[in-house]
Amino acid sequence: MTEKGPSTRTSSLGRMSREHFGAVNTPVYRASTMLFPDMESLKTGKAPYTYGRRGTPTTRSFEEAISELEGAARTVTVPSGLNAIATAILSVCGAGDHILVVDSCYEPTRHFCDRTLKRFGVETGYYAPTDDITPLLRPNTRAVFCESPGSLTFEVQDIPAIAAAAHAHGASVLVDNTWATPVFFQPLRHGVDLSIQAATKYVGGHADVMLGYVAANQSHAARLAETHGNMGLYASGDDCFLGLRGLRTLPLRLARHQATGIALAEWLAARPEVVQVMHPALPEDPGHALWKRDFSGACGLFGLELKPAPEKAVAAMLDGLCHFGMGFSWGGFESLIIPAHIRRTARPFPANGPILRIHAGLEDVADLIADLEKGFVRLKEAT
Ligand SMILES: *Cc1c(COP(=O)(O)O)cnc(C)c1O
Repeated sequence: MTEKGPSTRTSSLGRMSREHFGAVNTPVYRASTMLFPDMESLKTGKAPYTYGRRGTPTTRSFEEAISELEGAARTVTVPSGLNAIATAILSVCGAGDHILVVDSCYEPTRHFCDRTLKRFGVETGYYAPTDDITPLLRPNTRAVFCESPGSLTFEVQDIPAIAAAAHAHGASVLVDNTWATPVFFQPLRHGVDLSIQAATKYVGGHADVMLGYVAANQSHAARLAETHGNMGLYASGDDCFLGLRGLRTLPLRLARHQATGIALAEWLAARPEVVQVMHPALPEDPGHALWKRDFSGACGLFGLELKPAPEKAVAAMLDGLCHFGMGFSWGGFESLIIPAHIRRTARPFPANGPILRIHAGLEDVADLIADLEKGFVRLKEAT
């Protein structure tokens, strides 16, 4: 059977209506204790659900839908995207190991590696997102962590090439795929072992839930499930329900985020105040060819560099915006803008002016452009 399109799949995956009196989407289950019908099933543990922490119909619906979308052997849900990153790393690394982490990673990933992982005897090295990793692999390199496009600066990585180099060395490959979601990029189909998602962002899609997951290929499924189980990790029925509900409209929302994001990026690229726009879907972007080869779309998150301007001018621009909120996170229905502070270890990021990160929400694009246009007037007046 040929594979169905992404919208058909997100509409149908993980449904178990027959077990739920016909309810189309699996309802919220809140449960700790599960009762066994007899001693025999208690002894063998052969019941569909054995204990709340080990899963309920709501968590299972979500995980099964995700496994199908990701092409995964196993998916585990966790309370946040950052926890998904930590769980994925802990499932492959132990004392004495070395992990190579992309320099453009989400900042808290760096904190986890430099502060927590270090205490458990795992050493972290950083590599520039577009560099060949081969010279950096050490005998004890156990894992290579990628995030593509990178946080804040949106460099596209050559994931198949990284996976080939890492695997030739016996190292596992992990990808934070939050930007693309499994709708626009399926890491496991490009050689990755563990696909990580901050479902807080586009999967939830409404800025009202914290949720993460890790999806594993066959060779990494058992160790992921074991680490997840031994750490006592669990995501609530309420939160998995919101993840499942968000999933139903994910391709539809992403199409709009993509269109608005590209329209804003093109408009910004033509502005005299802007030095560069960092958006892989723009043909002039350095990552465009790789993005086109591996991804089937772009979300609404991108960056830009302004010409050098005093901080008070940038504040005047951002403070007066009506339709762009200032806040961390992204992937909800609303537009956001933040000044971005880039930290690098492997190689400095070449920029002289302030960097901004924009999330294109679901508002009308003409209103967003008019808002930014007035913002540029304030920027000029306060410079
Ligand atoms: C937000 C984010 C995370 C962390 O997700 P939380 O649910 O906030 O913990 C991880 N990776 C990327 C790229 C993110 O943007």
